[in-house]
Amino acid sequence: MKFLTKLLNLFIFLYNKLKIPLDKVSYFYDFFSLFFPRICYSCGNTLFRHEEVLCGYCLHQLPKTNFWGEEDNPVCRIFWGRVNINHASSLYYFAKGGKVQHLMHQLKYKGKKEIGVYTGKLFGDYLKKSVFYSDVDVIIPVPLHPKRKRKRGYNQSEMFARGLAEAFAKPYDIHTLVRTYASETQTKKSRFRRWENVKEIFALKDHQHMINKHILLVDDVVTTGATLEACATMLLQIPGIKISVATLACATH
Ligand SMILES: [Zn+2]
Repeated sequence: MKFLTKLLNLFIFLYNKLKIPLDKVSYFYDFFSLFFPRICYSCGNTLFRHEEVLCGYCLHQLPKTNFWGEEDNPVCRIFWGRVNINHASSLYYFAKGGKVQHLMHQLKYKGKKEIGVYTGKLFGDYLKKSVFYSDVDVIIPVPLHPKRKRKRGYNQSEMFARGLAEAFAKPYDIHTLVRTYASETQTKKSRFRRWENVKEIFALKDHQHMINKHILLVDDVVTTGATLEACATMLLQIPGIKISVATLACATH
């Protein structure tokens, strides 16, 4: 390890002091890849120099929903009759044991924040070209309770929001909607009981700057929609607001 550090310093020195052309530096990059390979978070294969987070194969193979171009889609339908949502869509289909689950597990539990930012950017590039999302003003992630955020080090939905905000060239906001209780929704409860459980866990802070805005509410995954419904219901108290929903994955049947 000490040897490698010395070698790395030597390369940095060569690059900085001797102004070695970039194509030569790429040889160093390839050399270092032997020791510190960057891998695809989905399949584990080594990434090429121009790739990040996902390899070209996975980028192509992961099951995209294309819901963002459909007026009526299974994610929109989750919210029908429950809360007034402008449009809703997900980037990928979630399947148990599949690549998307693996990816989301690493984003949520293995500290791989870059997965959220990267997929957010990817999704944002699709969304901003859709008529349903082209006028989005601000991105709001489903908040994590501060205690839980401290424990995990970050909010995975916030990472996703960050990538989306970058693609839209719009801000993301983590101060308007906050989580007041740490309790998670329990999947074994009935839909009504779950709703009872989540409706009191979010609160609205100062929101003058949100009046008449089109908010893109985002989360890592949508299943029953109870959490997103609770967030949207809270946000709908803001005058003139329009809400759309975007999640990294959906587990709809
Ligand atoms: Zn891959």
